[in-house]
Amino acid sequence: MTLRSRLVLALVTMAAILVAPLFIAYDSLNGMRAAVRNIQAQDLNATMLLARIRAAAEELRRAELQLVYATDSSTVASPGARVTKAVTSLRALSDSLVTYGLEGPRSEVAGTLDRIDTALVAELEAVRHGKGVRADSLSKLLQPVMLRVDSTVERTGAYLQSRTAEKVELANVEAASAQRLTTTAFALSLVLAGLIAIWLTATISRPVSDLESGMQAVADGDFSYHLSIEPMRHDEFGRLAESYQTMVQQLKQLDQLKAEFVSVASHELKTPINVIIGYLQLLQENVYGELTPKQREICLTLASQAQALSRLVRQLLDVSRFEAGGGKLELRSMRLIPFLAELESTFRVLAIQRGVRFHVNRGSRLPDHVVWDEDRMSEVLGNLLSNAFKFTERGGTVELSVATAKDAVEMRVRDTGAGIPAENVPFIFEKFFQADNQAAASTKGTGLGLAIAKSIVNAHGGSISVESKVGSGTTFAISLPIKASGGRHHALDSRPVAEHSAQRRVERLPELSTS
Ligand code: ADP
Repeated sequence: MTLRSRLVLALVTMAAILVAPLFIAYDSLNGMRAAVRNIQAQDLNATMLLARIRAAAEELRRAELQLVYATDSSTVASPGARVTKAVTSLRALSDSLVTYGLEGPRSEVAGTLDRIDTALVAELEAVRHGKGVRADSLSKLLQPVMLRVDSTVERTGAYLQSRTAEKVELANVEAASAQRLTTTAFALSLVLAGLIAIWLTATISRPVSDLESGMQAVADGDFSYHLSIEPMRHDEFGRLAESYQTMVQQLKQLDQLKAEFVSVASHELKTPINVIIGYLQLLQENVYGELTPKQREICLTLASQAQALSRLVRQLLDVSRFEAGGGKLELRSMRLIPFLAELESTFRVLAIQRGVRFHVNRGSRLPDHVVWDEDRMSEVLGNLLSNAFKFTERGGTVELSVATAKDAVEMRVRDTGAGIPAENVPFIFEKFFQADNQAAASTKGTGLGLAIAKSIVNAHGGSISVESKVGSGTTFAISLPIKASGGRHHALDSRPVAEHSAQRRVERLPELSTS
């Protein structure tokens, strides 16, 4: 499944899952609304009807009293009509009770009204015929009958109250269960959505972090990193993994091609340079005739430039050989003390020749064995010491201190030489960079030594730093794990040559006087 369809599927599922509790809540709210409507339509309206029945019964009582107090037959007509109207209205209202499921109270009121009707006919007759005493006694008999309507209304009202309470209780129970259901559904939805999110993140983040590590490895110059993503996968990650493999293959080929090219070119340059140096020596030795002072000066300049070129070619060859081998270190267990002793004896001679004091300080608890690439580390320390002697005047001091710190060996090469201008220090480890202190150097350099040194130290998993003060001297500090785990050197090919350092090299080309 492609990443896009996986994302769409996951998002749609998550949306559906999160919407489910909403539907349940909506359904419960609908139920509640229906219950409220039912209470309103049935019970509230029925209560209002009862109130109207009570008012109609009251009206009937008043009409009946008016009838009793009618004195002659001429005034009977209007109270009689009022009584008949009140009875009719009461009957119509009581008939409406059926609509609200109150069949019992309706027939009770209807029965009472039948009796009232019969009694009223007699009472009306008595009043019409001016039989006041009879009408009065009939009225007295009628009063309790009429009051029955009130008691029926009272009982029905009580019944309605309890019926409403029951309905409200039922609605409450339904609401509580709907709330429980919605909460459970919501919790379940959250869990499901969370699981989907975890699955989605895992399926995306794992290959992404794998690709990230791969890219980082390539950026560090390591082309041996293998992605755990299957290039056969039929999604975007599969295609990315395939592109990554192709890119790594091409970079590997380019890297090798570049190293081979530098190696071949430097090799091809070596012979003509040696021929030039040889002929320049012969010229200086007057083999081809006596040289004028001007010609001698030119020959000297040419010889020093040819030597510088020869050193550059040698170092380039060194670098290219290292890179052609994949920049890999040959880590071996080596004895540290003899290694330092050999370095000391090599530079002791140089120190005597230059008239510079040379000290080697070995810490008290140095490890017997370290796991390093001996040749490469000898190259690094040799380069730092050469630089120290190169920039230190007669009478100065060069010091190599070695001490143990945790799982590492700390090495310091300190000199009391010319120092490096502060503005040059940040670029000191760049290829071909040379500080503005070349006037103090006893021999010409190439600007490659420190770049190579840093690359080798980094490949060992160590670090190199510098502290310097013009006029006081320079200290290079290296920290190297006692057991290097073996990386690849890459600083040389991954960093661009600083523009200003290239420019400075051009500026430093010797000016040959043409006079
Ligand atoms: P180079 O072949 O020029 O010595 P490096 O890469 O070894 O090349 O050093 C780069 C530059 O750093 C040197 O040209 C010099 O300007 C400066 N440098 C290195 N070591 C020292 C030192 N001990 N004292 C003063 N300057 C130094």
